[in-house]
Amino acid sequence: MSTRKRLLILGSTGSIGRQAIDVCRRSEELELVGLSAERSWEALVEQARAHGVGRIAIADEHAAARAAETWTDGQVLAGAEGLVRLVLESGADLVLNALVGSAGLAPTVATLGEGIDLALANKESLVVGGELVSALAEATGARIVPVDSEHTALHQLIAGQPPGAVQRLTITASGGPFRGRSREELGEVTVSEALAHPTWAMGGKITIDSATLMNKGLELMEAHHLFGTPYERIDVVVHPQSLVHGLVQLADGAMLAHLGPPDMRIAISYALHGGESVQLPIAALDLAAVAELTFEAVDLDAFPCLRLAGQAAREGGTAPCVLNAANEIAVHAFLAGRLRFLEISAVIDSTLSELGSEPVRSFDSLYEADRQARALAGRAVAALC
Ligand code: NAD
Ligand code: MG
Repeated sequence: MSTRKRLLILGSTGSIGRQAIDVCRRSEELELVGLSAERSWEALVEQARAHGVGRIAIADEHAAARAAETWTDGQVLAGAEGLVRLVLESGADLVLNALVGSAGLAPTVATLGEGIDLALANKESLVVGGELVSALAEATGARIVPVDSEHTALHQLIAGQPPGAVQRLTITASGGPFRGRSREELGEVTVSEALAHPTWAMGGKITIDSATLMNKGLELMEAHHLFGTPYERIDVVVHPQSLVHGLVQLADGAMLAHLGPPDMRIAISYALHGGESVQLPIAALDLAAVAELTFEAVDLDAFPCLRLAGQAAREGGTAPCVLNAANEIAVHAFLAGRLRFLEISAVIDSTLSELGSEPVRSFDSLYEADRQARALAGRAVAALC
């Protein structure tokens, strides 16, 4: 019998998903048992064939039907329920959630509910699910290991310290393509300018989140939930080179930093190998060639999304869920050319003010807040068009 870890990758056709398959292909320790995509069924079937995977799930029912006609070597599950069934039926030891957006919440809940360890790239499910997701992991004993360069860095730094030794956490932000611009200079920026990230190649949604700095707001909440650190002890600093990913401050004033090339396979491999460092074909940093590491404060006037995220985080309840849903609608509209760059934060702001924050009693109250916020943000987008 195989002693390899049985791995399920949700969102395997995306940026993280494809890099995870690359990590898996090089590893003796991992066996792929399931894959999923939203609608790109041809790419998914090709991945399943190439890696001898027996089960796939496709969110789009029509695309799932096409896949089932073409690929008869395994099982094709369909729809949002199909994704959850994939988690429940694959017999996985580890699930990598690399979906984008709050669509990742149900599979995160299914994974943790089954007591299966979760490698979490889908930060949105932790932002939205917050305390409920953390409590579920605690109740079933499942571990959540981050797949996000900053949080992987912090995870590794914290693991080397005795409990209570770490006083503050710092996550770095590249600043995105518009770093250094004033609010006035951001009025007419285009979609292709916003998609031209200076240091990372990623999926469309997170690339826009990096341009608005909403990504750092989501990461602030991600760090809070992963490490149980209060918000007043988590800092964000802009670091344009994206080589220092995270830092921890100790009681004596020393700071430990985690450096590495901007290649997500490092974070993916760390999570998939249980925090172990294994060989990857990535050139080490040449610090003399790098020459300079610089840091600067965030301009919250030009990038209000980070301020809005900080407010929603401190407010708690359904506010982070509402913020996330409004952001997803606004980013989608921006990518479709229906909203200007600065209007992204305006849509989020108005949705948050209108819906406020309600206490979270169950996952159902989160799904309902997500639905309401999407509807309201959609109307705000339509009003601005
Ligand atoms: P992506 O858009 O490239 O890929 C998303 C994947 O999820 C695709 O396989 C897509 O088919 C699937 N998907 C999308 N919507 C879905 C839905 N509604 N139902 C089912 N499947 C769906 O995204 P990405 O850049 O790989 O990012 C994935 C997650 O990882 C995001 O939460 C992102 O914030 C996080 N992350 C990404 C990076 C990166 O370098 N790309 C770095 C850190 C964190
Ligand atoms: Mg990150």
